[in-house]
Amino acid sequence: MIPNVLVVEDEDALAALLQYNLDKEGYRVTIAADGEEALMLVDERAPDLVVLDWMLPKVSGVEVCRRLRARPETRNLPIIMLTARGEESDRIRGLDTGADDYVVKPFSMSELAARIRAVLRRIRPGLAEDRLQHGDITVDRAAHRVRRADREIHLGPTEFRLLDYLMQHPGRVFSREQLLDAVWGSDVYVEARTVDVHIGRLRKALNQYVEDDPIRTVRSAGYSLDVGA
Ligand code: CA
Repeated sequence: MIPNVLVVEDEDALAALLQYNLDKEGYRVTIAADGEEALMLVDERAPDLVVLDWMLPKVSGVEVCRRLRARPETRNLPIIMLTARGEESDRIRGLDTGADDYVVKPFSMSELAARIRAVLRRIRPGLAEDRLQHGDITVDRAAHRVRRADREIHLGPTEFRLLDYLMQHPGRVFSREQLLDAVWGSDVYVEARTVDVHIGRLRKALNQYVEDDPIRTVRSAGYSLDVGA
């Protein structure tokens, strides 16, 4: 699973550098140049983590952080704040407003990458772990293998990513559009009913021996994974 990282940084050169390096680290990166754009992008598609500059035009980084924390749907969204050296009190306030960690400028890319990994591991273990398990289904990401009870399940790459994504958020209902964004990527044009086709294949592979169907179809809303409920 490729984690989506939203980078909010108004300095073009630094934004480009962050995009290049985080992309190399295996993240899908989106850039926002100010606080207003950041909030808009989060509304469109909640990222897995936000790298948020302290000093931003329009809506400041602190304010963005506060607003994200105030809303139930983004309350637990991991946020790493970027601050300038010497903003000691600001740093502390940064943590008060609910940032999960902060990095002081100038920083090395390997330092930031390490912080991102640590925050994701702590807050969204599903993104960082090699192995996901729910009920009798196990996804081994390192080996790219899936098991249900004692049976090995063979999945195509898209079905694997779909299952991986659903396993990260058991019980949560996703619309077809959300699944398209998360699994196929928002820059790829795929029709919503393609999701139904791949869900169908995933179901067929998982439920070979008349086991309970772990994938729930929510009429007019989408799909969710309900294993061992
Ligand atoms: Ca700035």
